[in-house]
Amino acid sequence: MECASEDVLARAEAACLGLALGDALGATVEFMTPREIAHTHGVHRELVGGGWLRLQPGQVTDDTGMALALGEAILARRGEITRLTCARAFDAWMRSKPVDIGNTVRRNLLLFRRTGYPTAPASEHDAGNGAAMRVLPVALATLGWPEYEVREACRIQAHVTHNNPVSDAACEFIALAVQDFVRGASLREVYRGRIRPLVETQPAFAFRGKLRRENPSGWIVETLQAVLQGLVDVGGFENCLVDVVNRGGDADTTGAIAGMLAGALYGRDAIPARWIKALDPEVRERCVAQASALLT
Ligand code: MN
Ligand code: MN
Repeated sequence: MECASEDVLARAEAACLGLALGDALGATVEFMTPREIAHTHGVHRELVGGGWLRLQPGQVTDDTGMALALGEAILARRGEITRLTCARAFDAWMRSKPVDIGNTVRRNLLLFRRTGYPTAPASEHDAGNGAAMRVLPVALATLGWPEYEVREACRIQAHVTHNNPVSDAACEFIALAVQDFVRGASLREVYRGRIRPLVETQPAFAFRGKLRRENPSGWIVETLQAVLQGLVDVGGFENCLVDVVNRGGDADTTGAIAGMLAGALYGRDAIPARWIKALDPEVRERCVAQASALLT
């Protein structure tokens, strides 16, 4: 943890709000194709709820729910991040009857309930986006830690449900990129320092010179391709999130991940007031409270 300046705090808050806003915006069009979205909404850019989960306007899903549960558990342990803390937090969240839950998350939390062992078995199939979507509180709680300790903390939270090297690479990338943006790095700097190295070490994530990634699945590779195309090619917080969710597919999760990155990059003032107003007020308050608490 670092002594957080006002700018750092505002960007951390924007990352938390961005996660929730991207989730709420994308959930309306989750599992739709871009063509279906265009037919129903034109360009989808308002927090209107609905979708296959029949959400209230501004309501969020598991992406934000798991991240907030994780953040609150880390705070309850005064910033300590252990496998058992994370597993118990996710298990308690699952008991709270969330509106949705990923298959890999459910399977491995049920295994934790049976065995009490907080690490999922390593699996080449568990490269879903369920660990990456909730990594933000770890990024904020470990701001200023040595990079290898940040990476380790990312894996600790991830491996409760997703014990997979491709998921790990994505979680670590997202957390470190969010930290760079929160500290004030530019998109160009993060492109050189984080995005290009990610694609060089994990070529599956390549996203430039490729077709527009539409209908991204829950596979973290497709999720991150859609997010990175939106982040790198589309300027501004609102435009980035609108671009990403209108690709359809796992749109609440691409929205959530784009939201944390774009929130940290563009800052609190770039978030449209109408979106803040439409967001579930309880979620909004938890996001704001958590951002400052995790930094201090
Ligand atoms: Mn969701
Ligand atoms: Mn999703």
